[in-house]
Amino acid sequence: MSTTQQFYICKTCGTQFAATEGPPPACPICQDERQYIGFNGQEWTTLAELLQTHANEIRPLEPGMTGIGSQPAFAIAQRALLLQTPAGNLLWDCISLIDPPTIEAVKELGGISAIAISHPHYYSSMIEWSRAFDAPVYLHADDRRWVMRPDPDIVYWQGETYPLLDGLILIRCGGHFPGGTVLHWPGGAGGKGALLSGDILTVVPDRRYVSFMYSYPNLIPLPAHAVQRIVAAVEPYPFDRIYGAWWERVVRQDGQAAVQRSAERYIRAISVELE
Ligand SMILES: [Zn+2]
Ligand SMILES: [Zn+2]
Repeated sequence: MSTTQQFYICKTCGTQFAATEGPPPACPICQDERQYIGFNGQEWTTLAELLQTHANEIRPLEPGMTGIGSQPAFAIAQRALLLQTPAGNLLWDCISLIDPPTIEAVKELGGISAIAISHPHYYSSMIEWSRAFDAPVYLHADDRRWVMRPDPDIVYWQGETYPLLDGLILIRCGGHFPGGTVLHWPGGAGGKGALLSGDILTVVPDRRYVSFMYSYPNLIPLPAHAVQRIVAAVEPYPFDRIYGAWWERVVRQDGQAAVQRSAERYIRAISVELE
């Protein structure tokens, strides 16, 4: 990379791009119909700029789990989740800002052994996080075309499930993206199990329910068969709690039943009724 090249970050989706001389011509992730171009047109920033305007909040959520999110909110405003296991720590989903205080705080929690991300909207600055902690990034191969900063430390896994550290398992659900992935954490919720769902199953403001969309900002639903496929993919794994992509989006208990009743309600709502 020459001295005038920079790793630009899209302000609307938070994705960091490969180094370029001047901003990239466009953001394919925001041009896609699942996202949108920002209200002021395409805008770019850099990590150096973000360091001046934002900081990360590190918040313990339950034993073995810590949330990491930027203040004030940036781009899609998801927070990442750090899971501590005896076999090493996993960062679930990712955010654009990584700074020295965050690196210090995460090191105190045991660092990061692996990073796994639900779908391209949260790829954010994944390579910066990977470099800071010398951790590989696990992405589903079906979403490879959406990687804007390719790197040898990305592991493209294939198929339906992929075991990671200490019983953690990545589950491909598809739907929102072909490689849309969730993480099952058997030790979560006091041993009852937790599902870390990104927005593959999104926890809605009524935290007794989740929803399933092709596009959340543009309100494009999924067909019934895609919703049924998501439900079938997570069904074998016991979980009581569901962590969505934002701080407040958590189904505290009864998660498996919440997925069932949400899918039934959704499919009823999109079904054609013949009179
Ligand atoms: Zn973008
Ligand atoms: Zn998304």
